[in-house]
Amino acid sequence: MPYELEQQTAVKAVLLAAQLCQQVRQTIRPEAIEKKDRSPVTIADYGSQAMICRLLRAAFPQDPIVAEEDAAALSQPEMSSYLTQVCDHVQQLMPDAQPAAVTDWINYGNGQVGSRYWTLDPIDGTKGFLRGEQYAVALALVEGGEVKLGVLACPAFAADPQADPNAGSLFVAVRGQGVTVAAIQGATLGAASSVQVVRPEDTANFRFVESVESGHGDHSLQAAVAAAVGITTASIRMDSQAKYAAVASGQAALYLRLPSPKTPDYREKIWDHAAGVIVVEEAGGTVTDILGQPLDFGQDYRLLHNQGVVVSNGSCHAAVIAALREGN
Ligand code: AMP
Ligand code: MG
Repeated sequence: MPYELEQQTAVKAVLLAAQLCQQVRQTIRPEAIEKKDRSPVTIADYGSQAMICRLLRAAFPQDPIVAEEDAAALSQPEMSSYLTQVCDHVQQLMPDAQPAAVTDWINYGNGQVGSRYWTLDPIDGTKGFLRGEQYAVALALVEGGEVKLGVLACPAFAADPQADPNAGSLFVAVRGQGVTVAAIQGATLGAASSVQVVRPEDTANFRFVESVESGHGDHSLQAAVAAAVGITTASIRMDSQAKYAAVASGQAALYLRLPSPKTPDYREKIWDHAAGVIVVEEAGGTVTDILGQPLDFGQDYRLLHNQGVVVSNGSCHAAVIAALREGN
């Protein structure tokens, strides 16, 4: 099996990180620390990144890791109480964790995009995490600009709508091998099952998803484009790559992320998409930018050659791109 060790390592790391995030959310009310760009980060973001980077580095010492966070702010003297809290939580899962090591592990994530690298969002949708809603831990392996492996934990998302949402779901996709999902049961996983995008005749699930945050997209244009392809029911709004999970598992046909009119030159970050892209593609769906071009993960930590993201079950994709071209 290709990427077997990569898959085993990534699943173990992401499952541990998901446990830490849930542990933080259940035992304290997580507090937002403001980053330089004014976006929030929490002790769980740092703890998640520390554990995942540690395990990746141990198994694949040559591979760069391009992760969202770094430990520069956390290492400042005035932040020492946060670093202590990060360490306390990591120690519950990795008893040998000490502050100096934890900051080193976080900084393993300062790698550069190259011919083979990992990209990590330790908590995608931090705002959803803080609100008690959807968030994800997203890890992907990229080779030659293409995502080859994606492990996406959505600790508050049930892939099977009948299942307990408190269990959460962990998706594992390998290029050409399909994608499976399993319920997260604390430190272990339930039985894996296959994942499939929605069929065109399943009208009940032919809905669209978009961000909760209006500044991360264009809610009014997104509604117009969805309507142009026949989706007139209200969108489902959720934070994080849980939106990719919703499309992959057939709970929605379309995820639109059109450039916000407030930030037309924004370039999407690789860690906000890489794991989600392969999960949807291996479930039979399609992912492109707003022009219908594939996302190019081979350039930079930003998707320099792409604007916006369109994720679909495949059957409505061409119509969506045509509607965008016509300016709907
Ligand atoms: P979501 O949970 O889908 O709203 O996406 C959260 C991600 O949006 C964060 O991880 C940020 O990297 C990203 N983000 C921040 N600003 C913007 C923006 N102006 N347009 C699109 N995405 C953004
Ligand atoms: Mg993110």
